[in-house]
Amino acid sequence: MEIKLAECAGFCFGVKRAIDTVYEQIETGKTIYTYGPIVHNEEVVRELEQKGVCVIEGEEELAACSAAAGGTEGGANAGPSVIIRAHGIPRRTQELMEQYGLECIDATCPFVKRIHRIVEKAGEQGMHVVIAGNSGHPEVEGIRGWCGGPVTVVETEAEAERFVPEEGRQVCLVSQTTFNYNKFQSIVEIFRKKGYNGNIVSTICNATEDRQRSAQALAAEADVMIVIGGKHSSNSRKLYEICSRECAHTYFIQTLDDLHLELPKAVRLVGITAGASTPNNLIEEVQNYVRINF
Ligand code: SF4
Repeated sequence: MEIKLAECAGFCFGVKRAIDTVYEQIETGKTIYTYGPIVHNEEVVRELEQKGVCVIEGEEELAACSAAAGGTEGGANAGPSVIIRAHGIPRRTQELMEQYGLECIDATCPFVKRIHRIVEKAGEQGMHVVIAGNSGHPEVEGIRGWCGGPVTVVETEAEAERFVPEEGRQVCLVSQTTFNYNKFQSIVEIFRKKGYNGNIVSTICNATEDRQRSAQALAAEADVMIVIGGKHSSNSRKLYEICSRECAHTYFIQTLDDLHLELPKAVRLVGITAGASTPNNLIEEVQNYVRINF
């Protein structure tokens, strides 16, 4: 029996960079917070908690953590450090951190930061920004928070059809980095037909597409497929959906404990893939388990 790992699996560039930043900061001995869980992976977050890294869940908690650490409002960089995760945050939240005297360490993925810059500039030029993405997702809320002017989030083609820019404004269309490529193209087409002038920038990240394409290719040839990812990780759930379509025996697990494999003798190939928030050691653990036990 062969065990094959998908060509692209596990941490993407942006998530790896953010986690490396946290570990570097731990070394400094300072009090470290992350603004929201650094990745959608409970194992990673628990491990960081054991090293003293706490998660701040929202703007209200910023003030509390500053006060608890003796930080003073208005005193820049006087208090503990808060690391911004790869998804990014709204400008307002970043400014609040500075007001509370918290050192803000920006681990926003450069691909997301690029979107912040595009929409910020579009706002300055008086454009109406449209974000193709899931309203409520932290990355989208972060992008929204860098738009100085009108902004609308569209998730579906029907919403794109209904969208009308504010009078006299050109449109700047960007996408959430994990948005579906075909859906984005349809939205572009709708906007073209409506004659909306302006700026259309595809800001979909290749890491997601590469991971999905290689998972699909492996699932198509595998007899059994294992997808490793956090319960709340949307990209991991998407991988599970894609693999399930290609391979009837697809398992979605968070850790090795969730894996209750029963492999018939006829199984020739077990494929493994993992979401962008799954650490390498977990992938290796699952690989070794299958290798040793079957
Ligand atoms: Fe950055 Fe892409 Fe990873 Fe998102 S998926 S963190 S944009 S590398």
